[in-house]
Amino acid sequence: MTAQLFRDDAYLRSCDARVVHVGPDGIRLDRTVFYPNGGGQPGDTGVLRREDGSVVTIVNTVKAPVESEVLHLAAPDAPELAVGEMVSAEIDWARRHRHMRYHTALHLLCAAVPAPVTGGQISEDKARLDFDIDMALLDKDAIEAKVNALIDAGHPVSTRWVEDAELDANPGLIRTMSVAPPRGQGVVRLVDVDGVDLQPCGGTHVRNTAEIGRFSVQKIRSEGWQNKRVIIVLE
Ligand SMILES: [Zn+2]
Repeated sequence: MTAQLFRDDAYLRSCDARVVHVGPDGIRLDRTVFYPNGGGQPGDTGVLRREDGSVVTIVNTVKAPVESEVLHLAAPDAPELAVGEMVSAEIDWARRHRHMRYHTALHLLCAAVPAPVTGGQISEDKARLDFDIDMALLDKDAIEAKVNALIDAGHPVSTRWVEDAELDANPGLIRTMSVAPPRGQGVVRLVDVDGVDLQPCGGTHVRNTAEIGRFSVQKIRSEGWQNKRVIIVLE
């Protein structure tokens, strides 16, 4: 099992770690700051720095074969690591911080549009959520005004763990239809945008909505009967 340090501190940019597996499937460490692709948020990129100073470039990070394991995918020309050696795992922070800002912005968008979410995706320069809603109810100006007010208000963002049973007793906590929260470990991680949004989420977020920056809706379009897509950009 990989200790996933980003779950308790999304602001960690690096950590020392031991290589526990090297194979065609990827590299596993005993602990990591690299977020694995999931929940609409891309996997982190960065480097594993060896004790001799050379680096293994990491081009993607994925969950595999199970939720509790993280696989770091090396560039094809990267030097081969040995099991047991120590490395410094360092993420591309500028890219990850953009993911954190976009991810948190999607929570605000979720709060601003009172409809079930059917999907979502984050990238470095835009993000989107799909809603099961009547097109006529999605107003660009109204959404921008609402979300920017939430950003300006500087709401703190925190995470906490709850037991599956508590979640089962409060099914309304689950906003997304397509992305069920990770279950089976007895506890679920909740992300709380204070006074605004509370839902299960495994991603990384900024610690205050003020850190998101200016928000705008780039496009609203229909992706089918149950999917109305809102694409957002941050300054
Ligand atoms: Zn989230």
